[in-house]
Amino acid sequence: MLTPLPPPPVPEAKTLEEARLQARVWGRARSLPDEGYSATFLTEDVLEISGPNGGPYRIDTMARTCDCPFFAEHGFCKHWWGWPHLW
Ligand SMILES: [Zn+2]
Repeated sequence: MLTPLPPPPVPEAKTLEEARLQARVWGRARSLPDEGYSATFLTEDVLEISGPNGGPYRIDTMARTCDCPFFAEHGFCKHWWGWPHLW
């Protein structure tokens, strides 16, 4: 079984709004299984997450990236934080 690497570094929240956003995304990440998300490994390092609201998105566990638009903007996302919960 693959051991999840630590999540990508989260930018330090500079405002209360940013801190709230991170807390909200963290909460969403924990509920991915309940929201109908699933994940499949495409290779040893790359997995694909499918969900009810778009995607699928690819997570590179070595590069520690997700290719969703949210990750591109913020440097973290619910997929990245949540994928270990999908097993
Ligand atoms: Zn993502």
